[in-house]
Amino acid sequence: MDGMEAFTGLLMGWHRSSNRREMPWKGERDPYRIWLSEIILQQTRVEQGRSYYERFVEAYPTVCDLAAASDEEVFKHWEGLGYYSRCRNLLATARHVAQALGGAFPSTHEGILSLKGVGPYTAAAIASFAYGLPHAVLDGNVIRVLARCFAIREPVTGLAVRRRLMMLADSLLDRTDPAAYNQAIMDFGATVCRPMSPKCGECPLSGVCQSRAAGLQDAIPVKEARPERRVRWFHYIHAVHQGHTLVRERRARDIWRNLHELVLLEGDGPLSPEALATHPALEGLMPAGSPIISEEFRQMLTHQEIRGRFVRIVLCDRTPAPEGYRWAGPEELGRTAFPKFILTYFAKSGNFT
Ligand code: SF4
Repeated sequence: MDGMEAFTGLLMGWHRSSNRREMPWKGERDPYRIWLSEIILQQTRVEQGRSYYERFVEAYPTVCDLAAASDEEVFKHWEGLGYYSRCRNLLATARHVAQALGGAFPSTHEGILSLKGVGPYTAAAIASFAYGLPHAVLDGNVIRVLARCFAIREPVTGLAVRRRLMMLADSLLDRTDPAAYNQAIMDFGATVCRPMSPKCGECPLSGVCQSRAAGLQDAIPVKEARPERRVRWFHYIHAVHQGHTLVRERRARDIWRNLHELVLLEGDGPLSPEALATHPALEGLMPAGSPIISEEFRQMLTHQEIRGRFVRIVLCDRTPAPEGYRWAGPEELGRTAFPKFILTYFAKSGNFT
């Protein structure tokens, strides 16, 4: 028996011996819930995604419940998960399924793949878990397992290598039980063939693993170096008056679209506390005391790093809001979604106002 033939049997045997990760969406057959969990888990760790999944299922038990909710409410539920384009796609797809498809999720691979925000991995996961269709998943865990087991020495980010991995994944799929196979290989990647320190000593595939035979398991998968992150400086004016705060909805077509923010000054570099305290943007604001300038905050994103400070100003009078901004009271602020950068500041400074 060659490595290809042995791979699937060994993996399924490992999975049957109760080597499974327990997660609330495991064994789920409802395509809506599977889709929800998969969208939440895109670019999110399982531990973080779990509570969001439970919260969404409780608030919106069916796709029609989600479709009927307001943007504001759903964004508030999503707050803190990041990558807000996922939330926009979530709403768009829920409304499409509820309105154009009569509330029934598509039951073919092509139909699932045509949904907004659903790529090949998510489509394969929903098709196999909900309907038992023979489509192999290819996510980061699976890529690592296959690249190591079959000693793929080229960078796994390349298009040609991705195609080769997809063909390999398809040919290894257990067509008698695609759902169990897909779950098995993802669990195996997460718990045995881990990114760092793979557990080769207790691995059921060690006899067929070509990387292990060549001593290459720590060098594979090969990744191309990432381009340097772009650094952006955000200075926010946190203007407050009697429990009200100046905010606006971000309309720019970027990752924070539809979230709310404070008065923003964006630049290429840092402004000193002195320059901030005397910034022209503060002209016309009548502070009741000295502005309070925060420590520096940082947030790493995939392609950029955000740095900045917050200037909190308590005003004597509620000045007219600058164009695009409005004064929001405590109740409205409580149901408004903000980017993580601002939430971190709110959490550290104590409250919204
Ligand atoms: S032997 Fe090591 S590198 Fe190979 S599949 Fe098992 S855990 Fe991964």
